[in-house]
Amino acid sequence: PKLENKTKGKLQKQVCQVVLDHFEKQYSAELGDVWSSVRDVLTYPSCWQHAVLLNKFSHAADLEDTLCAQGYHPAFSATLPYLPRSLKCYVSRTPGRFPSQKHQTGRLKEYYLLNAASVLPVLALEVKDGEDVLDLCAAPGGKSIVILQCASPGQFHCNEYDELRFRWLRQTMESFIPHPQFDLITISNLDGRQIGELKPEFFDKILVDAPCSNDRSWLFSFDIQQATLRLLRRRELSVLQFQLLRSAIKALRPGGSLVYSTCTLSKAENSDVINLILNSCSNVIPVDIREIAKAVSQEFTFHSDTQQHELLVLPEKGRAWGPMYVAKLRKIQ
Ligand code: SAM
Repeated sequence: PKLENKTKGKLQKQVCQVVLDHFEKQYSAELGDVWSSVRDVLTYPSCWQHAVLLNKFSHAADLEDTLCAQGYHPAFSATLPYLPRSLKCYVSRTPGRFPSQKHQTGRLKEYYLLNAASVLPVLALEVKDGEDVLDLCAAPGGKSIVILQCASPGQFHCNEYDELRFRWLRQTMESFIPHPQFDLITISNLDGRQIGELKPEFFDKILVDAPCSNDRSWLFSFDIQQATLRLLRRRELSVLQFQLLRSAIKALRPGGSLVYSTCTLSKAENSDVINLILNSCSNVIPVDIREIAKAVSQEFTFHSDTQQHELLVLPEKGRAWGPMYVAKLRKIQ
C-alpha cells in the first residue's frame, strides 16, 4: 500500500485496512456504540490536536500571548486541587499543530508538543516535592518532562530499554532541564523488568507508561506485513505489561503508589492487566481517581464503563485527545 497520497500539495496518511478491520471487530465489541465516533477521529488526522506544554525552566516572555492570539487557552482551570500551579498546558479547540522547536545544543526548549491526555497519568501520580520518582518506560520523555513541570522530586530516575529511544530520551531531558536540576536526574538504559530487583522498595512514586498497541499510529501502519505481525503478537504485550508492573511494585516503598498508563483502547492491555495484578499481588490496592476525571471533564471525554481506580480517555471531535488509559495502585506492605 502507498503510505501517503499527495492531495493539493499536502502529504496525506492512509489508513491501514488490516488494522482498521481488527480494531473494528474488537472495539465495537468492547466499547459498543461509542467506537464509531472514536474511529472517526482516529482515522481522520486532519481533526487531530496538539497541546503545548510550557517549559517552566525556560521562560519565553511572549509565548503565552502568542498562543492566546492563535486561539489557545490553558487546558485545566487553575483552581483544580490536582493541578500544580507550575504546570502550564495550552490547548486549542481547532485542529492543527503549533510549530515544533529543533534541538539546539546548549539551548533549552520553551515548550513541548503532546497529546493533552498524556498529562493525566502524571496528574494521577500526584508527585510531591522531595519524593523519589521513577519513570519506568520513559522515552521519548514527554511524561518525564510533565513530572518535572509539576514538582521537584528528591531523586528522579527515568529509564528506557531501547537503545535508540534511550538516546532520544537523554536528548529530550537535555533540551528541557537546566543544570543543576539535570545533574540530579538518573537516566538509565535497563530492562524495566529488572528494576524491581535492582532497586527494591526504593521509590515513592512510579509511572509505568507501558509499551502497548499504539492505536493511533498502528492505524497508519505503512507495511501490511509488519502490521499483521504486530496484531498477531499483540497478546505478548499484556505479558510484558504485567511483568513491568510486577517489577514496579517491587521497586515501590510500602505506602508508595504507581500509575499505569497506555495509549490503547484494548481491554486486554488495560483493565485485564490491572485486574490480573490486583488478583495476584496481595500487597497492592486500587486507588480511586474519579475526582481527577471530574476535575478535568471540561477538556476530556471519558468512557463511562470503568472502575473507580481507572480512566479511559476517548478521542472526540474538538477534544481529540487520547486514547489514554490510566489506573492507580498503592502498595500497602
Ligand atoms: N512515557 C513516554 C513518554 O511519555 O514520552 C512514552 C513511553 S512508550 C508508551 C513505552 C516505552 O517503553 C517505549 O519507548 C519502549 O521502547 C519502552 N520499553 C519497551 N520495553 C521496555 C522494557 N522492558 N523496559 C523499559 N522500557 C521498555
